[in-house]
Amino acid sequence: MLPVIALVGRPNVGKSTLFNRLTKSRDALVANLPGLTRDRQYGQATLKGQKFIVVDTGGIAGDEEGIDGLMAGQSLLAITEANIVLFLVDARTGMTAADEFVADHLRRQNKPIIVLVNKVDGIHADAALSDYYSLGYQTVLPLAAAHGRGVNTLVDTIFDELHLESNDEDQLIGYEKAQGLKLAIVGRPNVGKSTLVNRFLGEERVVVYDLPGTTRDSIYIEMERRDKKYTLIDTAGVRRRGKVKETVEKFSVLKTLQAIDDSNVSIMVMDAREPITDQDLSLISYIIDSGRSMVIAINKWDGMTEEQRDTVKHEIDRRLGFIDFARIHFISALHGSNVGHLWESVDEAWASAQVEMSASKLTRLLEEASEKHQPPTVRGRRVKLRYAHPGGHNPPLIVIHGNQCSKLPESYKRFLINFFRDKLKLIGTPIRLELKEGD
Ligand code: GDP
Ligand code: GDP
Repeated sequence: MLPVIALVGRPNVGKSTLFNRLTKSRDALVANLPGLTRDRQYGQATLKGQKFIVVDTGGIAGDEEGIDGLMAGQSLLAITEANIVLFLVDARTGMTAADEFVADHLRRQNKPIIVLVNKVDGIHADAALSDYYSLGYQTVLPLAAAHGRGVNTLVDTIFDELHLESNDEDQLIGYEKAQGLKLAIVGRPNVGKSTLVNRFLGEERVVVYDLPGTTRDSIYIEMERRDKKYTLIDTAGVRRRGKVKETVEKFSVLKTLQAIDDSNVSIMVMDAREPITDQDLSLISYIIDSGRSMVIAINKWDGMTEEQRDTVKHEIDRRLGFIDFARIHFISALHGSNVGHLWESVDEAWASAQVEMSASKLTRLLEEASEKHQPPTVRGRRVKLRYAHPGGHNPPLIVIHGNQCSKLPESYKRFLINFFRDKLKLIGTPIRLELKEGD
């Protein structure tokens, strides 16, 4: 399971600046997908080769009443679930009552806490730090998040605190025992995830093995369907002993993100009877961001009139139109309709994520694409794309070499990705491009 870093502090101390620095998008493409909310609360960071989930808890300043209940709840939950807390304060304002409030709250958490005295650029860091030792925390570090100063020391300290250099393999590799394709069932509360999991498990010819022990959070269920092995990652927490359904835990965003990270394919479940929310979109963007394959299930399709169905489809086109690579299925988990097709798309998405591509084919397709739609000129010189080769699987990575290709506009990268997707028939997986200057 990925270690979780929570950023805490009153508003304006620089949490989102640090968040952006830690999670700096590895994939410009994702950041530029239209329709995704830019100010995400959850992100993934790769620091010294280790992946983390980073949570910006928003402002905790003692005025929680003002914040939407679920969000505040999720922030506090995030602190509880985090492996390490970064407590940011502002060197320029000095300590405030709100800082002490946050410190009080954190003191009750029994976990590593690093106090980060931010905005030390242009001021005397030692003097700024000395104030904050009085909070009683061991580790107080200077930081200038906006300029990147102090970030390396911070990362080293995080590694020390979490003992990540030791062989704590549990921390590093997640759930390795899982067999076959790992399939996460994710979505907001009440969209029908448990109903769907039970439907899967109740299908004919499905063999469910003993639960292979539970992780702290999601439940891993091994099963076999049509001679193929799968491990369901059940975020809804249905334990199926006999026919007993027992809801183990309430919805947790972090649990969901960890399930996505640990999966090969995620089924994103949404409720046809509810509007698409920002939380849906941010889950989807997290799936894409982590390079996981995805199938979308619009659930509760039963008992809706044609008119209602048209409205839902229209809304999906409008809000999810940017996800042009994932299959969307309209299902009823309750009655089982269309659920079989989900499996086909899951297999297809995983096959796409692992596709073997050859350099000669990719180069040929690159030439075809450039003929169809010439790369643009940048400052009077045409971008020249020379050749392409595969760079990895899961998700497929296509490496392109050329001249000035680092200047290629996003719109042209999108065109290339769509072109490759179409020609290679890659459905259900994100595709990444890496552009390299010269040979
Ligand atoms: P948040 O509310 O805690 O998420 O804070 P933000 O990240 O939005 O930052 C609040 C303000 O502080 C913004 O205007 C940032 O540009 C500024 N800021 C953040 N980090 C630094 C820093 O290292 N130095 C300086 N001088 N300003 C910073
Ligand atoms: P979860 O919180 O995502 O696990 O959602 P549940 O599986 O507990 O379902 C929430 C509610 O939606 C329950 O009352 C279900 O019976 C109902 N529900 C789930 N799937 C369907 C469906 O396909 N059609 C209808 N009409 N109701 C459903």
